Amino acid sequence: MKTAKGVLYVFSAPSGCGKGTVLAEVRKRMPELRYSVSATTRAPREGEVDGVHYYFVSRERFDELVETGGMLEHATFCGNSYGTPKEKVLEFLNNGIDVILEIETKGAMMVKESYPEAVTIFMLPPSIEELRRRLLNRHSETEEVIDGRVHEATREIAMAENYDYVFVNDVVSEAADTLYGIMQASKSLTKINKDLIKGVLEKC
Ligand code: 5GP
Repeated sequence: MKTAKGVLYVFSAPSGCGKGTVLAEVRKRMPELRYSVSATTRAPREGEVDGVHYYFVSRERFDELVETGGMLEHATFCGNSYGTPKEKVLEFLNNGIDVILEIETKGAMMVKESYPEAVTIFMLPPSIEELRRRLLNRHSETEEVIDGRVHEATREIAMAENYDYVFVNDVVSEAADTLYGIMQASKSLTKINKDLIKGVLEKC
């Protein structure tokens, strides 16, 4: 049975951990799941498309969205701002459609506070050395940027214990199986099914 409201999934993992790859696998199995496109002040990387990977916006536009209450959450990460535009996400949830946010830990904690029904999931790298290796293989950042991202990774991993679920991305297909399993099981979490219990009791 489907919950009346959609489920809000919050998925975090250190940069370079393979979050996008694992999530892409899971999205193939859950075509009805909506992915929230974030706004960012970061410059696009090669191959990134405005409106698909991110809304690439100016600092002024970003600040305006925050000030007018248009963001569900926002955070600064390695010198750039990132945020989740609120309107679409709430509209989907209210229409019973599940949504996933792929965001860093400060933003994730903001969502957890303002929307406690959110299901929070953290994916770990096998090790920090492996994470650095994956970032270097991506060839999209300078060594200085990579050092910053590794530093952020250790801070983020320390936040993992605040999430509902945690697992390791060692082999992509296995990590995708785990994430899919978590997402399916969490549809039956008590915290998002209170109305279901009430509904049955009311019929007694
Ligand atoms: P990247 O620059 O590698 O695309 O993203 C850097 C970090 O920002 C990643 O951990 C990514 O998940 C996170 N991020 C992307 N969009 C958002 C967002 O809307 N809000 C927050 N808080 N973090 C985001």
